[in-house]
Amino acid sequence: MINANFYALTAPALTSYLQTKQYSSYVTSQLLSWVYKHQHLSMEQWMNVSKKLRAQLCLDFSFELPLIESIQRSIDGTTKFLLRFNDGEGVESVLIPTANRLTQCLSTQVGCAMKCAFCFSGSEGPKRNLQAHEIVGQYIAVNRFLLKNPIIIPEDPLCTYYPKITNLVFMGQGEPLNNYEEVKRATTIFLEPQGIAFGQRKVTLSTCGVVPKILLLNEFPPVNLAVSLHSPRDAIRDQLMPINRSYNLEKLFTALNQLSLKAYRRITYEYLLIDELTNTPEDLELLIKLLIRERSKINLIPFNEYPGHSFKRPSDEKNLWFCNELGKHGFTATIRQSKGRDILAACGQLKATRTSVITTSNC
Ligand code: SAH
Repeated sequence: MINANFYALTAPALTSYLQTKQYSSYVTSQLLSWVYKHQHLSMEQWMNVSKKLRAQLCLDFSFELPLIESIQRSIDGTTKFLLRFNDGEGVESVLIPTANRLTQCLSTQVGCAMKCAFCFSGSEGPKRNLQAHEIVGQYIAVNRFLLKNPIIIPEDPLCTYYPKITNLVFMGQGEPLNNYEEVKRATTIFLEPQGIAFGQRKVTLSTCGVVPKILLLNEFPPVNLAVSLHSPRDAIRDQLMPINRSYNLEKLFTALNQLSLKAYRRITYEYLLIDELTNTPEDLELLIKLLIRERSKINLIPFNEYPGHSFKRPSDEKNLWFCNELGKHGFTATIRQSKGRDILAACGQLKATRTSVITTSNC
């Protein structure tokens, strides 16, 4: 067990470890409570844990977290963190304040293998999977920062104050389902009632459509599922998302249809609005035919530009038209406000290059 990272331990794994040292299972709750509920990471404060066990834990586990290397804050309050792991690799994670939520967008891989044509994050290619403790570590590191530096939006007349992360989305760098086991373990840790205790509906996993792994999702903790659809036409999807050449729309929807209705009654479809490529009247018609109203929520994402991009973001009027038409046809559709575009923190804009190392003074 030496040098295992504590943040990769599920509650049952911690209990088994404690049993091997002759401690009873209620110690699991005590430890998880100190680390996750009270966020006291320094063991001197763990009054109800024996000195002997504390010493043993130090021998057996690392409590290392990713280092926050830089922080950038957008005028809309969106805050982007560059986090560095001990092998020198880094990822970005973003805090997004909206009406009454503070959502953290988590990365699951360093780089990404999916090569989606519109995505800046994917343009650096695959590097490595994150381990569960590196995924959980993004949350702990950012949450600790937040405890000392709550987000306050200066322009907001209500001076809304965001002291706590309320939602998690696996929508940062990487394809979560290409790192299935580690993402599953991190999700389990996020949901455990004795620990971090997020509600299932507060966590969202997003995939570009890795069909063999979608087929396993009935065994995954039942969090919200988002699917990056982006076009109802195979020919266009083939161009935009190479995964479609292996798993086309028919295969994707066959897999989605076998998901348990109880856990996945509603799926969110992320739909990229690219001018004249995905937002034509024909696209609208095909999309309406493809999706089942009662089981779908459509989240329209106007294309976010980044250095060297080659697609066009449609006008706000066109985006509104597309959204309203879906509404008229009985769909629940919203346009995602692309927050943090000024600091390249919006969808598809994350990339942990050293060029983004700027620390702003207002954090
Ligand atoms: N790999 C997963 C998780 C990434 S989620 C997935 O594909 O679902 C990030 C979301 O932002 C995805 O829907 C992705 O397709 C979208 N996205 C990527 N680049 C974008 C861009 N330039 N503008 C708007 N959305 C983008």
